[in-house]
Amino acid sequence: MGMDGYTEKMVYLVGAGPGDPGLITLKGMECLSRADVVIYDYLAAPALLAYAPPRSQKIYVGKSASRHTMEQDEINALLIEKARTNGVTVRLKGGDPFVFGRGGEECAALQDAGIPYEIVPGITAGIAAPAYAGIPVTHRGVAASVAFVTGNEDPAKPSTDIAWDHLVKGVDTLVFYMGMGNLPSIVTELLHYGRPSGTPVAVIRWGTKPGQQTVTGTLDSIVDIVNKASVKPPAIIVVGEVVGLRERLSWFEKRPLFGKRIINTRARAQASALSQRLAALGAEMLELPTIEIVPAGSGSTLAEEIADITKYEWIIFTSPNGVETFFDLFFARHGDIRALGKVRFASIGPAGTAALEKYHLQVDVTAEEAVAEGLLRSLRGAVPSWKDMRVLLPRAKKARDILPETLTAWGASVTVATAYTAHRPQESDRAVIESVLRKEYDLITFSSSSTFENFCALFTGEEFSQVASSLRAASIGPITSATIRSHGIVPLVEARTYTIAGLVAAIEGFFNP
Ligand code: SAH
Repeated sequence: MGMDGYTEKMVYLVGAGPGDPGLITLKGMECLSRADVVIYDYLAAPALLAYAPPRSQKIYVGKSASRHTMEQDEINALLIEKARTNGVTVRLKGGDPFVFGRGGEECAALQDAGIPYEIVPGITAGIAAPAYAGIPVTHRGVAASVAFVTGNEDPAKPSTDIAWDHLVKGVDTLVFYMGMGNLPSIVTELLHYGRPSGTPVAVIRWGTKPGQQTVTGTLDSIVDIVNKASVKPPAIIVVGEVVGLRERLSWFEKRPLFGKRIINTRARAQASALSQRLAALGAEMLELPTIEIVPAGSGSTLAEEIADITKYEWIIFTSPNGVETFFDLFFARHGDIRALGKVRFASIGPAGTAALEKYHLQVDVTAEEAVAEGLLRSLRGAVPSWKDMRVLLPRAKKARDILPETLTAWGASVTVATAYTAHRPQESDRAVIESVLRKEYDLITFSSSSTFENFCALFTGEEFSQVASSLRAASIGPITSATIRSHGIVPLVEARTYTIAGLVAAIEGFFNP
C-alpha cells in the first residue's frame, strides 16, 4: 500500500542474470525489493532472494534438464493465482526471461488472465558465460554475427526447427544453450553442413559463478574433451573463431584465488569484509560463523561509565565491535557528540580506527602492530607519563589481561568494561559443516582464538580427529596460531600483519607463491 492508498498490482518477469548475483539489473533489484511473492528457478542465483523483503513469500519452481519440479502450465497457473492475491509478484528467471526462458509463454498466460505484467530483461548466459571465459561473441575482423541456438532439439530427428545449413554458412559465432545432451549430434550436424573440423569450440559450465569450468577444443576433439573432463549441464557451447581470443583475453579464471573454496568462520556481522575481499580475488566463499556478537545493554557497566564519560582521559578500543557498541550506548545516553569532552582515543588496529573515523573522530594512537603488545608499545610514549591517567577499556568479555595490567603497572587508573560478549551460535549451516568433513575446501580462516575454539566445538570428538588430521587453517596472527597449534594443528597460512588485509594478503601469497 503506497502513501496515497494505492496498491500496486503487477507481475514483473525479471531476468536474474547468468549466476553471478552482481549481474542482475538495477531495475530487477528494485522490483525484488518491493516483492510480495518471488517465484524463482533453478538457474536464478539464490543469493538474490536476500534482497526480497523478509516477509515476502519465496516459491521454488526449479527446473533442470533431468527433473521438472513443476510443469510449465502449473507454473503459469501458480503465477496467475499469486498475482491475483498479492500486490507485487516477481517471477525471477535465470539469464534473460525471453531467451530460452519460456517467458513469452508466461506473459501470454498473464495476458489471457487479464493480469498486468512488465518484463525486466536480464544478461543472458550466452553472452555472459563466454565473456567470463574471455570470449567476445563478436570481434572486429573475427566474427560479425552471432546466433543463439537451442541445443535441446535432437538434430537427428527427421523434422527440425533449426535451419542448420543457413546457420553454418551464414553466422560466424554459434552459441548453443541446453546442448550438453546433444553435443555429439550438434558437432555432426555442423561438420555435415560444412564447418571445418578445426573450428574452435568452448564449453563453459556454470559461467560467471566461482566454480566456472571451461574446456576448449575443436569440432573434431570437443566431444572427447568434454567426456574426459566430464563437463555436465548447465553449460554454454560456443562455436567459432572467437573462441581463440580466450588465450589472450581470459581474465575471470586468472584471478589469483580462482577455483579456491574458502570457509570463513568470522561472526556474521563482520564476515563480509573478509569474504568480499577474498571473493574479489576469485575465491568461492562459504560462511560458517562460529561467533555471535551480543552487545552490552543499557544496564551494563559500560553504559554506567558512559554516563560519566568526561572523567576519562583515554578510551582504548580493541575492536570495531567495541567502537560500535560504545557509540550506540553513548548516543542513547547523550545525543550530542560534545558530551565526549576532550577524551583521547587509541585503537589496536586499522578497522577500529576506521570505525572511529566514521564519527569524524581523530584517533590519537593506532597500534603499529595489531596485538595488545603492539598497542602498548605505541601507547608507551604517547604521553609523558601514564601516572593517574584515567583510562576506559571497552572490550570483549573474554580478553587477555596484558593491556589493563601493563597500563596499571604504568600507574594508570584503568576501568575495564565489557562492550560485547561473543557466543557460539545456536545453529550452523549443515552443508558447510559437511564440506569440512568431506575436505571439500581449500582453506578455513580463523580471525581469533575463539573462532578456532568454537569451530572445534562444532564437531564430535571422533569427527574432530578426522577434521584435524588434515585441517587447512589460515590464521590472522601468532596468538590465534598458538591456539591452533595447541590442538596439534599447524596453520598453513599466518598473516604477517595481524589484520583482515594482512590475512587476505597472506592467503593470496599462499596460493601464488
Ligand atoms: N534464460 C536463460 C537460459 C535458460 S535455458 C538465459 O538467458 O541465460 C538453460 C540453459 O542456459 C542451460 O542449459 C545452459 O545452456 C544455459 N545457462 C544458463 N545459465 C548458465 C551458466 N551460468 N553457465 C552456463 N550455461 C548457462
